[in-house]
Formats: sequence, C-alpha cells, structure tokens
Amino acid sequence: MVDKGEGGKNPPVHGCRWPIYAPSPRLETMTGKDAGRAREHGGGEVQDRGSIAIVGAGIGGLAMAGLLSRQAYQPVLFDQFDAPAPVGSGLVIQPVGQDVLAALDLLTDACALGAPIRHMQGIEAQSGRVVLDVAYDRAGAARFGLGIHRAALFDLLYRAALAAGVAFRPGHRVVSRDGQYLRFATGRDGPFDLIIDASGAGSVLSPIRRHELRYGAIWGNVAWPDTALPRNALTQRYRRADRMMGVLPIGRLPGGDRDLAAIFWSLPQDRYADWRAGGLERWRDEAVALWPAFAPFLAGIGSVDDMTLARYAHGTLPRPHGPGIVTIGDAAHQASPQLGQGANMALLDAYALARAIEQGGIAGAGPAYARARRWHVRIYQVMSWAFTPQYQSDSRVLPVLRDHVLMPVSRLPGMPYLLSRLVCGDLIAPY
Ligand SMILES: Cc1cc2nc3c(=O)[nH]c(=O)nc-3n(C[C@H](O)[C@H](O)[C@H](O)COP(=O)(O)OP(=O)(O)OC[C@H]3O[C@@H](n4cnc5c(N)ncnc54)[C@H](O)[C@@H]3O)c2cc1C
Repeated sequence: MVDKGEGGKNPPVHGCRWPIYAPSPRLETMTGKDAGRAREHGGGEVQDRGSIAIVGAGIGGLAMAGLLSRQAYQPVLFDQFDAPAPVGSGLVIQPVGQDVLAALDLLTDACALGAPIRHMQGIEAQSGRVVLDVAYDRAGAARFGLGIHRAALFDLLYRAALAAGVAFRPGHRVVSRDGQYLRFATGRDGPFDLIIDASGAGSVLSPIRRHELRYGAIWGNVAWPDTALPRNALTQRYRRADRMMGVLPIGRLPGGDRDLAAIFWSLPQDRYADWRAGGLERWRDEAVALWPAFAPFLAGIGSVDDMTLARYAHGTLPRPHGPGIVTIGDAAHQASPQLGQGANMALLDAYALARAIEQGGIAGAGPAYARARRWHVRIYQVMSWAFTPQYQSDSRVLPVLRDHVLMPVSRLPGMPYLLSRLVCGDLIAPY
C-alpha cells in the first residue's frame, strides 16, 4: 500500500473534505486508463472474453461488476431484490477498502457523503477505564476510516455499475446452480463461463460452514444530536463483555442534508424478543445509566422497530473456488463486525479477482484469486475470532484480561502501530 501521509508524494484528490491520496500503483492498473486500453485492443468493440454471471448486487458484487466492466467484460448481475432500497445501518470503509473505491473512481464521492473516523475509543462503563484506544494515524500516515451509511455506499456502487453498462437482473433469486447455469424459481439462465457468488452470508451456492455467535447487536440510524461526542471517532462503552454500545458517525444519505450517526447495542440473539417486549423506556434507562452521553442519540429512536437485529457468525470457506465458480465476500468468509472489515474484505476480494482475471483470463482466475487473498483473509478471521469474545460474550474472565493485561500491552512500544495497521486492514498485504 502506498504511504498516504500528508507529506506523501501523491496529490490530494480534488473535492474531498479532507486529504485523500491517489491509489497505489498496483490499484492504478485497474483505473479507467487501462480499461480504455482493453477496449482499444478489441478494436473499439467489446471483445468476447467469456461470459460472467455475478450472483448478488451487494457491496462485493457491485464492486466486482464495476471492475470487470473496466476490463471490457460484460457481466450479468443477478439479485433477489426487485428494486434497490436504502436499507441497513452504517459501516466503516477502512483505508484498504478506500483504495478499491479509488480504483472505481468512487472515493471522492464516498468521502463527500461519509464521515472521516480518526480514532476508536472504548471505555468500561463501570470502572471508567479506557480499554480500547486506536488511532488511524499511528502507522505513520494520515489515514482514516470512512464512516458511511450502507445505503450511501450501495447507491454509489450501484449507479457506477449501471453507468458502466452492467446488465442488471433484479427480481432473480438464485435457488441453485446446475453446472454453468443458474436456476431461479421460474427457470434458468446460462451457460456462463464463470459464475461469481457474491450473495453474502445467506448464499445458497456456497458450502461455507458458519458458526453462529451467541451475541449480535441491534443497530439504528439517528440524526447527529447536540452532543459533546466527537464527530470523527467511533465511541464505545462496555459493561464487562455482555454489554457493548456505540456511536459511529456515518455522514449523510445521498441528497440528505443532515449528518447521521449509527448507534448499536449488543445483546444475545435469543434475548432480542425480550428486548422488544421490554419496550424503549426500559432500554433507555439501562443504557443511560451506563452511558449518560448516549441519551441524546436514543432520543432519535421512536420505536423498537427503529432498531434492527444484526446476527453475527464466523466461518471461512477453505477453497473459495471450484470448476466454473468463484466465491467472494461474506459468502466466502464471515466474521462479526468487531474489526470493521467485512465490507473491506468484499471489496478486496472483488479487486483481487478482477486482477486475477485481468492477468490470466477466466480459466485460471479462481486459484490465482484464492492465493492472493489466502493469508490476509486467514489472519483477519483469526483476529476477529480472538477479539470478538473480549467485547461480546458472557465470559467474566476475558473482559478482565482485556482491561488489565491486553490494554496495558497495547500501549507498549510498537503496539499502537500494529493496532493501527490492524484496523486499517493492511496488517499484512491484502492481496
Ligand atoms: C451490523 C453490521 C455492521 C457492519 N459493520 C461493518 C463495518 O464497519 N465495516 C465493514 O467493512 N463491514 C461491516 N459489516 C460487514 C459488511 O456489511 C459485510 O461483510 C458486507 O456487506 C459483505 O458484502 P457482500 O457483497 O459479500 O454481501 P452483501 O453486501 O450482504 O450482499 C449480498 C447480496 O446478495 C443478494 N442475494 C442473497 N442471496 C441471493 C440469492 N439467492 N439470489 C440472488 N441474490 C441474492 C442480496 O440481496 C444482497 O444484495 C457489518 C455488518 C453488519 C451486519
């Protein structure tokens, strides 16, 4: 990854609210210039390089479609939804994911909508002890996470894919695969030279074995209230590991004029029905007793229906490819959002697969993509598996270890740098 420090060589991209720098030379191979060259090699016509179907128009599938269309492929993108809808809460696009957005020429627009996150801070609510303190710039560069509404990110990727001429087939729920054909409730389509499964955590095509976590979280979006909480930080409070609540600045929706926050509250998934039955007042009382500064955010929640339960699971597909099919994103690996990497992983997968196709064509792309992503995926899956129960579990031992051993260790020389690299997404090279 290129150094994106303020004193770095790359000039800031015009139009952003803070300095963004051009993507690394590796990512530049994917920009419009090369896509243009690819079209030229086809004599101005789109070459018949093989047919590609992408299942799932989520973050990974849309990025994949955009990147392939720059290589003069004409992917067909299937999704079960009938029409795109602004659903979901916020997420953080880490610097590695931002590079993929830059390769799609979408980073400037994403920055205009999102909110720069410079710092992640977590405090144990009862002791007042700081137990999470990670700054993005400790790896020696002025980097940041981009807090963004999922619908804003979706909107950017979706419009870019349509503008690139991607053939989009909404209302197509894939029920199975029959060789190189995709089957839907009403028929089938194909054959395709390559099927890319980007259909997320509920993929019917992926043989991934997922281990559902006991804890999930309820998420909601509110207008940023009158508060002293910083607008450039992810702020969290914990009670042991059985309560985690947080505030994430996520910028604005496309066309919106109000800054928003995503708020979340962890709970065991099997307690969700109790939480709903208990009503808002009981929740507010408990939350505000633990964190008074949460109160103005809760004032933006009018009903329990304003909060949505997100279920978390861990699992990794050992071999994310097979004859005629490649799997990317949550269909290939799932983790809790503790490290804020899932969308980044989907973007990185899309980028690595696009590069493998560009370099070796469709035939050998699956193994090349798997090799490129293997260690990055494995290390982040292990990290997520190790970190999540320290913040979201019934354990009484792990939060003590977190507060009294791991937090002091995280302040030893060299550790702030490593933690910064961990959240930025490039603890090791991502592809
Ligand atoms: C609450 C929460 C917070 C998160 N926070 C972060 C964060 O801060 N940072 C981060 O990087 N990640 C975060 N993540 C993770 C991130 O959202 C996912 O990892 C990411 O969306 C995965 O992208 P994907 O393209 O693989 O799947 P998705 O984005 O889930 O897209 C899958 C698509 O496939 C379609 N589909 C599914 N089944 C079928 C079918 N049978 N036929 C046709 N279409 C189908 C769906 O309609 C959907 O459009 C968070 C996740 C949650 C739940």
